[in-house]
Formats: sequence, C-alpha cells, structure tokens
Amino acid sequence: MVVVAFAGLALGWGSAWVFGQGRTSLVEVGAGIVVPAAAEDSVPRVSASTVAPVPSQHLPSVGFDDAQFSIDDPESPWVVVNKQLPLDPNSYQPDDLQVPPGGGMATGGALRAEAADALALMEKAAKSDSVIFRISSAFRSWDAQAELYDGYVRTGGVAQADTFSARPGYSEHQTGWAVDLYESSECRLKSCFGDSTSGKWIAENAADFGFITRYPEGTSGVTGYKYEPWHLRYVGVALAKQMRDSGVATLEEFFGLPDAPNYPSP
Ligand SMILES: [Zn+2]
Repeated sequence: MVVVAFAGLALGWGSAWVFGQGRTSLVEVGAGIVVPAAAEDSVPRVSASTVAPVPSQHLPSVGFDDAQFSIDDPESPWVVVNKQLPLDPNSYQPDDLQVPPGGGMATGGALRAEAADALALMEKAAKSDSVIFRISSAFRSWDAQAELYDGYVRTGGVAQADTFSARPGYSEHQTGWAVDLYESSECRLKSCFGDSTSGKWIAENAADFGFITRYPEGTSGVTGYKYEPWHLRYVGVALAKQMRDSGVATLEEFFGLPDAPNYPSP
C-alpha cells in the first residue's frame, strides 16, 4: 500500500487513470514509470514505428509522416545504423538482393530490390545528362565487412580504420540500402569524387531517386565518418526530398538521435 500511495502522488494524472483499473495495475504501471526498466543496450533506440512495410515506391513528401517507417528495423528503408546503433540482429542479411537492372553498373554488387530499381532509374537519368557512374561496392555481408575492416586495422590501426570503415554489424552496406559509386579510378573512394561531374550531379539529383549522401562534409561528429560523397543511402523519395527541402543533413539529426562519433566504450 505504501508503494501504491507514493506512485499515486508522484504520477498525477496517470494515477487518476490507473485507479480505475484497480490496485494491481497501479503498482505495475506506477513502478514501471517511476523506475523504468534498464535497457540492455546503453544507448536507447527510438522506435518510430513498430510496423515497417516497404512499398515498391515511396510517395512524394506531401503531408510528410516522420513515423511512417521504423528506424530500428533493418527491413525498413529508414533504419538508422551507426557506431551507436548496430544492426539487430548483428548478422542481418536482406533476402531480396538484386543487381540494378540495365547492366551499366553491373560490376559492383547488389542492393535490396527497391534500392536497386531506384539506382537504375538514377543511372538512366544521369546518362541522359551525359553523366556516368559505376558501383564500387553495394551490399556487404557481415563476413565480408569483417574481412574488409580487419584489413584496414592491420594496415593503419583501429583508430584510423574507424574513421572510414565500419565494424561488422555496424555497416550500412550490410542493410542492402547503401552503395558506393565512382566515376573513374582517380577519385574512387576519395573526397575529390564530390568535385567530379558525377559527384556534383549526384549531390544535386540523388534525392529525386530516394538517395541521400549519408556522410556529408563536416558531419563526422554526428555520423562518425569523414566526408564520403560516394556513399549513398537509399531512404525512399519522400524522406530524401524532405531532408533536402528542410536542409537537414543527417539521419541522426532528422530523427533526433544522439550523435554517434564513436563506438560505445567497451
Ligand atoms: Zn560506403
């Protein structure tokens, strides 16, 4: 009874609602609110939605609904993956990977079907502007990412590797929604890609096809990665345009998530 009385005083309007439900509910709900259960993960995830349908094409940003898709379900085109938010499950692998149709970029790998179709459309539009780009890398499995990351660690150490390569389970490439593009070997995976013809075209037009530049210049304190003009992330047309129109550069800022400059301390 002591707990009930305390909870009733502390919860104000909540207690008024709960009293109607009986004493047992009050104790459970009151205790739940006064002393929230500790999360297993030290970084709380924000659930935008528990339902994450992935339509074949997202609608334009009229009456934008920022809770339309989940930001923590890897099946969702809005999933946020960064150094504080690993994939869950860690070994996640999409089941609808597809090489973008058309064949023009067929050297570099596959994406989830919706993103692959969008990329093919973008390639076609770029071509009509005499702009050419190719896929450097798209989906990477947990194993492939581990091999890549370990290689960078062997070469330059952990601190350096962490500035540009994700640890396995923390990579957007593992979602199947991300792709690295290049124009020529000269600026492949280099910041000068941003100044190339295709890099400029992509910065200007990618949102129309549902892609964002995931690691814009000057945002490493938020995203955890240096400027990567070549790394595009598919989020659907509605969100990509909403971010462009509202001038919000990163998914972290758009969804009000904590900055993720580093991995959690061990
Ligand atoms: Zn990338």
